Amino acid sequence: MKKILVTGGAGYIGSHTCIELLASGYEVVIVDDFTNSVAEPLQRLQKLAGKSVSFHEVNLLDEAALDAVFVKEGQIDAVIHFAALKAVGESVEKPLMYYKNNISGSLTLFDVMQKHGVKNLVFSSSATVYGDPEETPIKEDAAVHATNPYGHTKAMMEQILMDTSHAFDWGVVLLRYFNPVGAHESGEIGEDPEYPNNLLPFVSQVAAGIREHVTIFGDDYDTVDGTGVRDYIHVVDLARAHVKSIEKLAKHDKGTLIYNIGTGTGYSVQQMVETFRQVSGKEIKTVVGPRRPGDIAECTADATLANNELGWSASYGLQEMIESAWKWQSQNPNGYRDAK
Ligand code: UDP
Repeated sequence: MKKILVTGGAGYIGSHTCIELLASGYEVVIVDDFTNSVAEPLQRLQKLAGKSVSFHEVNLLDEAALDAVFVKEGQIDAVIHFAALKAVGESVEKPLMYYKNNISGSLTLFDVMQKHGVKNLVFSSSATVYGDPEETPIKEDAAVHATNPYGHTKAMMEQILMDTSHAFDWGVVLLRYFNPVGAHESGEIGEDPEYPNNLLPFVSQVAAGIREHVTIFGDDYDTVDGTGVRDYIHVVDLARAHVKSIEKLAKHDKGTLIYNIGTGTGYSVQQMVETFRQVSGKEIKTVVGPRRPGDIAECTADATLANNELGWSASYGLQEMIESAWKWQSQNPNGYRDAK
């Protein structure tokens, strides 16, 4: 394994993964169309890594342009496929847009890979495929029943990839991410949502004075303090899980491997906000609101399989996750927009 093509490499998890790939000695080819991202992180990640990447501005639905990338780049050993839409609420309102981007875009990519003999893939899946799990921590063999169009696209993609790896002898790793948070230790790259849907970017913006308060979506769950519990994972740890997956594919027989990527420890909304207060020294106002439709009480990972088979485990704790998130927020009050 030498040359890795990364779709969505300008995005939050993609950009951190590219840094880790470069640090591990891989050549990186990025395909991104800046749907939910900008070019700035590409400059920054190359500077941080002290190495350059090859970049192509291409939409995955554009088969001819994608084909031209594979022709131009020559041998690609594996693909890490991040590019996708990811907002649950939006997916409920615009399901066709989600199916077209996340499914049709991926099918085009896989066709082009097959044509060029590229048979190794790491796919961004999500704990959302488990829906409301019967028990936590969740193991990989728990039932898959996603509850919204975004989650359905992830579950469908998993099935498509299992069938494809079986038919064409591909090596596939499906990584089911729990809740990625935090930023690169430099504070130079991080999550830059236009409007934050997830808890931690929202809390960051309240701490920074951009928004007035955090609404806690329900405090009557059967959890430690009544607020929702999630398994937050540092984005740099998550990025490293992709490098480990590439290493695994280099040694592994063909077929599909599925791994949960989380720390195994859950924190409540209240605990997250309180830790953010301590780290930032800022007042963070909270208001308790109703439950968000579709939310579950608790979701944590059993990551034993990733520990044993990928040789991966999370190295950062909650303090480092929140410190890095706050550093990114403080250094870039308007995300990448100031740099444009
Ligand atoms: N949450 C909240 N207020 C917000 C955003 C999220 O209380 O403004 C809660 C949400 O109900 C869940 C947890 O924070 O319990 C994590 O939500 P997030 O959207 O970050 O991730 P999810 O696990 O839903 O994918």
